[in-house]
Order: sequence, then structure tokens, then C-alpha cells
Amino acid sequence: MRYISTRGKAPALDFEEVVLTGLANDGGLYVPEELPEITHEDLIEFEGLSYAEIAYRVMLPFVDGAIEDDVFKQIVEESYATFHHDAVVPLKQLASNHFLLELFHGPTLAFKDVALQLLGRLLDYFLTRRDERAVVMGATSGDTGSAAIEGCRHSEQLDIFILHPYERVSEVQRRQMTTVLDKNVFNLAVEGNFDDCQAIVKGSFADQKFLDGARLVAVNSINWARIMAQTAYYVAAAVALGAAHREVSFTVPSANFGNIFAGFLAREMGVPVKQFVIATNANDILHRVISNNDFSKRELLATLAPSMDIVVSSNFERLLFFAYDRDASAVAELLERFQQSPTALADAPLEKLRTLFSSASVSDEEILETIRDAHERTSELLDPHTATGYFAAERCNRYPNVPMITLATAHPAKFAEAVVKAGFTQVPLPAAMSDLLSREERYTILPASLKDVQGFVAESRRS
Ligand SMILES: *Cc1c(COP(=O)(O)O)cnc(C)c1O
Repeated sequence: MRYISTRGKAPALDFEEVVLTGLANDGGLYVPEELPEITHEDLIEFEGLSYAEIAYRVMLPFVDGAIEDDVFKQIVEESYATFHHDAVVPLKQLASNHFLLELFHGPTLAFKDVALQLLGRLLDYFLTRRDERAVVMGATSGDTGSAAIEGCRHSEQLDIFILHPYERVSEVQRRQMTTVLDKNVFNLAVEGNFDDCQAIVKGSFADQKFLDGARLVAVNSINWARIMAQTAYYVAAAVALGAAHREVSFTVPSANFGNIFAGFLAREMGVPVKQFVIATNANDILHRVISNNDFSKRELLATLAPSMDIVVSSNFERLLFFAYDRDASAVAELLERFQQSPTALADAPLEKLRTLFSSASVSDEEILETIRDAHERTSELLDPHTATGYFAAERCNRYPNVPMITLATAHPAKFAEAVVKAGFTQVPLPAAMSDLLSREERYTILPASLKDVQGFVAESRRS
């Protein structure tokens, strides 16, 4: 399997290279050159298999021999053994034709664990085999950082540096990062906002001299392995609802579009999906594109669903590549225009997207109402991100006879502020982290300066 850039000017890579590389060097994102097929027979065969087994079979053609089959199988099994639910990603019925896919039973209580538990192990495997070490750098406004740390903490080959904005992440989110005391984990509290953190990470990738030749790895959702891992739960959930014999629909709380793009791939591979609903918070670039063909940046808003607070949806570029029939130069041109000023998609790709995708933008007020309303109707307490999904699923479902699966992207205990604002008492943390608030913390406060951060990384890394 070869991976090619959405902008068409970077070299094609194999699986190992694509996992170790972030952005393509032409500014694009890597996608598989061809998609493996999931046949009707596969869907029937998947019925009754464990989650790890389905995930292994879905991902195997993407790995394409880069890892021996039984070794890869073991990596997948270990990745999902860390989840605190036997079903890994259990499906819960909310109403006669509405289901919740709970993706938050991993170590950090958000769906990002599904991909990062696997990615950390893949990096460890490849680097060990190459006898190489690497530095991971990432910026986080909350969920990505802790999930990446949990994925990488056990690797002898990796040193991980996660930048978060000092005093601007919730206590639970901060402690999920700073109470990990492994010697290869470095939490940097940057005196600035999330954009400052991201700019420092970008600056470090752009000029890596400070690393003296050591490899720098990206674990954000531009990394192909994250998308691949997520595709598996769309397949598993569809199979659980009888996809061998009927269609299903999905609603996805979305920001960078990594999660829902994985669902789109599952459909391209052969899973019968009727409709995708994109749920956004007030940072609604995706909703504006689908509803108004308004592809433009707006100012960042702080919402009650902070893990969806973004200005640009980086993985939307991967969808555009398919919508534009893999015309990389058209995609490159569109994205260059978009960087400069508000723009619009061409008619044909837009129409294609609109037949499959619907969207809703959900305000903070609507998030709170939805948390209350869903609890009254289903007894489920939704986290604010999942609430955007529930709201959008109710509003945008075009096919009431097709089962709708809404993705629950975080556990409500992780986002206490919104839950309490909606009128509920604070939700207790799950047993595995009930003592989180009393664990020892370790982090380093640094000014929002590229030079200071790079100096710290150069000094602290272990090789
Ligand atoms: C990251 C995140 C999202 C957004 O996912 P994308 O892949 O960026 O679209 C939604 N909900 C939660 C809880 C998240 O952590």
C-alpha cells in the first residue's frame, strides 16, 4: 500500500514511512493510493468477532506487510486491552432507532485514545526495529495531549513533549497529563494561549536544527495511523447493527474532521452508510461549508465543548481530495485560496458532499438544553461534545428508518463545567482515576518562546 499527498507534489510513502512522517513536504496530507474493499462476506464474517479482531482485520490491508501479521495482531490486542470496557467501544440504544457509540472507555476518557493507544505502540515498534529514538512534540488544548502521553509513556524509544497553555486547561485535563511521571514524559505549561503552543510546535517542525539530527514525530490527527485506527469502530458499530443486511447513519461531533473522515473511508471501503451528520459547536466552519458553501476562517470562540474549538479543520483536506475526484492540483489551489481569503468549493464536489453529509452548528445554550433534554428522555448524561452530536442527529436525520449512531466522544466527568452548568451535580471520575485530583504532578512552566521551548527539549531529551 502506497500513500500519496493530497497536494500531489510529495513523494509516495509506504506504511512505516507514513506513520513516522507527519505532514507531506508539499503541505498536503497523506491518503492511501487505493482503498481496500470490505465485502458483504467480510461484514457477515465480522459478526460476533471481538473489537480487537475486527480492528485488526480492517487495518491489515493498510499495514500491508510492514509488520508481520501476528505481531500486528498483538499490537492491536494490547492497544485495546487498556480500555475499561469488555466491548472496548460499546453501543448503547437511546431510542428505537438512535444509538450511542461510547468511545470514551480508554485511559483518558475521550475517543482520541482509540487511535493514540495504537499509534504509540506502532511508533515504538518501528523505532525499536530501526534501533532509532525519536522526539514527539505536540500542542494541546486538552484531550490530544493526555491521550498522546498515555500512548507513548511506555516506549523506551520515545521522548514526548506536550505543550499546553498555562492555566488555560481544565484541572482534570491538566492532571491527566501532569500526573504521568514516566521519565520520557515532559509537560510544558506555556505562558500563552493554545495558538502560541501550536505556533511553537509548528516552528519546531519547520526548523529542526535544535534536535541535532534526531527524528521529530507528529501525533496530531494529520498522522495517517490515527485515521486508520478510527475507521475500525465505524465498521464494528455498523456490523453490530446488522450492516451486512441494512444501512446505518452516523452523527459525529467534529472539529479537525479526523474522526468523521475515518467514517467516510469506511463507507468508501464498502460499509453501507446512508448519511453522515457533522455536528459542530459555534466554531462552525464545517457547517458553513456544507450549508452555505462558505469556506472561510472566523475568529476562534471559547465554547462549552472546548475540544472542538478550532478555526481550520485540517483533515477536511482529505475529504476534499475525494470530493474533487483525487485532483490534487485542484485541492492545492483551493487550499491556497482559502489561506488568503474566504472562498467556496466548486459546484460538483459540493453537490457530492451534500448528498452524503448534513450538518448543524450547536450553540452553548443548545448544548446545555440538549444535556438536560437527553437525560430526561434517555437517562444518559452526555458530555458537551457528545451533546452537539445528539442535537445534530435529531435535527438533521433525513432517513428516520435507518438506525442513527451518534458518536460519544468524551466521558461527562471530563467536562464537569458544562455538566454542572446544565444543572447536574458533578459526575464522579471512573474508578481507574478516582484519585486523580490527589496524585503528584510534574510540569515545567516556560515563556511562549520558540527558543526557550527548543532549548528545553534539546536539554531534556534522553538521546
Ligand atoms: C478531538 C475531539 C473532537 C473532535 O474530533 P475531530 O477528529 O477533530 O473532528 C470531538 N470531541 C472530543 C471530546 C474530542 O476530544
